[in-house]
Amino acid sequence: RRKWGRVIDVLKELEEGCDTPVGRLKQVVDAVAVEMHAGLASEGGSKLRMLLTFVDNLPSGREKGTFYALDLGGTYFRVLRVQLGGQRSSILSHDVERQPIPEHLMTGRTKDLFDFIASVFKQFVEREESGSGYPLDRRRDLGFTFSFPVKQTSVSSGILMKWTKGFAIEDMVGKEVVACLQEAFTRNGLDVRVAALVNDTVGTLALGHYHDADTVAAVIIGTGTNACYVERTDAIIKCQGLLTTSGGMVVNMEWGNFWSSHLPRTSYDVDLDADSPNPNDQGFEKMISGMYLGEIVRRVILRMTLESDIFGPVSSKLSIPFILRTPLMAAMHEDDSPDLTEVERILRDILEVRDVPLKVRKLAVNVCDVVTRRAARLAAAGIVGILKKIGRDGSGGIVSGRSRPDTRMRRTVVAIEGGLYTNYGMFREYLNEAVVEILGEEVAQHVILRETEDGSGIGAALLAASNSSRN
Ligand code: ADP
Repeated sequence: RRKWGRVIDVLKELEEGCDTPVGRLKQVVDAVAVEMHAGLASEGGSKLRMLLTFVDNLPSGREKGTFYALDLGGTYFRVLRVQLGGQRSSILSHDVERQPIPEHLMTGRTKDLFDFIASVFKQFVEREESGSGYPLDRRRDLGFTFSFPVKQTSVSSGILMKWTKGFAIEDMVGKEVVACLQEAFTRNGLDVRVAALVNDTVGTLALGHYHDADTVAAVIIGTGTNACYVERTDAIIKCQGLLTTSGGMVVNMEWGNFWSSHLPRTSYDVDLDADSPNPNDQGFEKMISGMYLGEIVRRVILRMTLESDIFGPVSSKLSIPFILRTPLMAAMHEDDSPDLTEVERILRDILEVRDVPLKVRKLAVNVCDVVTRRAARLAAAGIVGILKKIGRDGSGGIVSGRSRPDTRMRRTVVAIEGGLYTNYGMFREYLNEAVVEILGEEVAQHVILRETEDGSGIGAALLAASNSSRN
């Protein structure tokens, strides 16, 4: 009994540490809006980098023709061909090919990586268009999704600041990304115009806007998390004199690095951060995204095991960082069998924790719930923070007969995608619920979270279309 009591103490402490009552979420909302201001005011003014994208015209739906996209940002890279019919939501077809990047190319020379990419692209167009009568050297417009930190100089150019995610090609840091790709196309006898260089969140916003012109922001919650939104150019103080035809520009927030003292932080977060390869970095991401949620749960279960022998003796597997992947944690959380057989299977097969009674399995589900609920509610606060910054949180008053037109709450759409949001039902429900809780039901009626699919690919092709001379 005393052991059980100690475990319950650990759970209680976790619950208190992860508590996100609506008052606290509102403080996070305010902190997000404040940090956005600071990041727009000066370079390095906030942990939010607020990167300019030079995307000022989002796809309207009128784009027509065949456009291509390359998506490079992880272990796989993809080629897409998208055919647009010229009416909103008429993506006629799209073909995709996915290939792993050979490991030696991730740490080799720039030329070798880009020659590989160009040759896969060439094979793709040869195969897709064989018999279509298109000459291979015909000019093609392409959007390039390059999900690494880039200092953008125009919508179709930018300099690589540093590599992440296992890439380490020294001679490319500081170089023009698009020039490297363009030269490889030329060497391969292809006439390709790289019309847009984009981050994956910007692709998601483009796809959302293509389907629905009221889309003002996009959020990705997958392995990592990030967001972007449309800002007025005159609010981008760090870049004065910025002129765009639309008067707006998409800003890539890099919100994974957001930090505020209002975030509910536990000892598990502190330890996870200290053990990570990037301590003090990506603090928001480490509480929210798919890369980390399972790992937080593992740390809590390990602690419970050390405090008592409730989960049996400490198994060696339980001590291995990142062994409990987030999809498995979700499967435990969503196990609705009366005996929690899935929980039992995962504890046994993955963590080598055996023969735990039902009430202990329930405890494990509880831990998953606390960790996911906090993550989803913080992400919701992030979204409302963006809405607050752009005056779409209803604080200017909502529509009614007597309100002034400029304070009306307009229909506001946020595009959202990523494996965590899409596949983890409990996470999605908690997030959607918290948005309503923070905004209040009346305002929330005007705010729509809309799931998109493959914005990083299709969205880049759409941006190539809206930034090409053909549209
Ligand atoms: P990316 O790696 O580019 O973010 P995705 O958007 O597809 O790709 O997200 C994949 C991530 O989503 C995985 O790393 C995992 O953390 C999370 N994920 C995928 N499926 C599930 C699931 N069923 N339950 C919970 N999380 C999931």
